[in-house]
Amino acid sequence: MSDNLFQDPSTRTELSSLGEFGLIERLASRIQLGQPTSVKGIGDDAAVIDPVGLHQVVTTDMLVEGVHFDLSYMPLKHLGYKAIVVNLSDVYAMNAEPRQVTVALALSNRFPVEAVDELYEGMLLACKNYGVDLVGGDTCSSRSGLVISVTAIGAVRPEDIVYRNGAKDNELLVVSGDLGGAFMGLQILEREKAVFTETGAQPDLEGHDYIIERQLKPEARRDIITLLRSLEVKPTSMIDISDGLASEALHIARASGLGVRIYDDKLPIDPTTYQTARDFNLDPTTCALNGGEDYELLFTIAQSDHEKIKGNPSLTIVGHMTDAASGYSLVDKQGGLHQLTAQGWDAFLKRG
Ligand code: ADP
Ligand code: MG
Repeated sequence: MSDNLFQDPSTRTELSSLGEFGLIERLASRIQLGQPTSVKGIGDDAAVIDPVGLHQVVTTDMLVEGVHFDLSYMPLKHLGYKAIVVNLSDVYAMNAEPRQVTVALALSNRFPVEAVDELYEGMLLACKNYGVDLVGGDTCSSRSGLVISVTAIGAVRPEDIVYRNGAKDNELLVVSGDLGGAFMGLQILEREKAVFTETGAQPDLEGHDYIIERQLKPEARRDIITLLRSLEVKPTSMIDISDGLASEALHIARASGLGVRIYDDKLPIDPTTYQTARDFNLDPTTCALNGGEDYELLFTIAQSDHEKIKGNPSLTIVGHMTDAASGYSLVDKQGGLHQLTAQGWDAFLKRG
């Protein structure tokens, strides 16, 4: 944990010594294209992609220093990895396959060339792991903070696209993986940062590996898209969980003109997440419902597909869709009904 990134002048190369073009050349020299649909990558005015008769999906997510990440505990390599992964997650949520990304960076002279190298190391590792090409971007200067904007481009057969608005009354609401872990990982990192700032003590992260990894090195659920295809289950609606299950379930319900019912006792929560929430005096259910950045997939399936997914360890049925008049509700362990709301993180933390 430290605040003085790359301060040692003997190992620090100033960005100004390379210049914008030098920096782009340096980045480009590390990049190899693997996708047959990438016709032209870095080096011209624009990249060229062959859609080969498919629909293309395009999505952008921006990460701003001080708002979305804190470099005192987020290594640049992880940040680069995460910046790519969160965009790929949106492409998978359309049931599409990501193929290309572009990366726009605003950098201040606080960052040396070595910092940009590390950032790209993480981005290129994610590209490699998910079979995606980095085909272009933009580089400019910023006054102080780092801003990373990634655009991901994917392809899908028109008949395979899944929108948020396709859910039907009575369909099952299914989530992949487990929930609340990334949020609890962030609480640990924030706590240790505060201790470091006050006392200089190095962080004690012991026993929290899983949730810290959920925060620092999330993965996009490509495997779930593949799994559903092999089970011959096509979701009727789908969304990725970046803002918390409650918020995303409400998006599906509203877009589909329906209500939704989620059952507290069905929520998949890892034991580490559960215990850490308890240690922080937070309600594990609230963390699972409102903790952000899990990057799991949330989708609806027809009741007739129940048999196909039943018992699968990666999938949990957390509820079902209802008619619009029944509204949005959370059923507690005693069977009581509560209004399901999407809480902001701030409101959530103050309650804890
Ligand atoms: P232009 O002035 O035409 O916008 P640039 O000098 O910004 O061109 O970019 C030159 C080439 O380098 C383009 O192919 C662009 O996509 C690529 N590029 C610029 N910045 C980045 C970056 N941060 N990451 C990857 N590619 C980049
Ligand atoms: Mg440009």
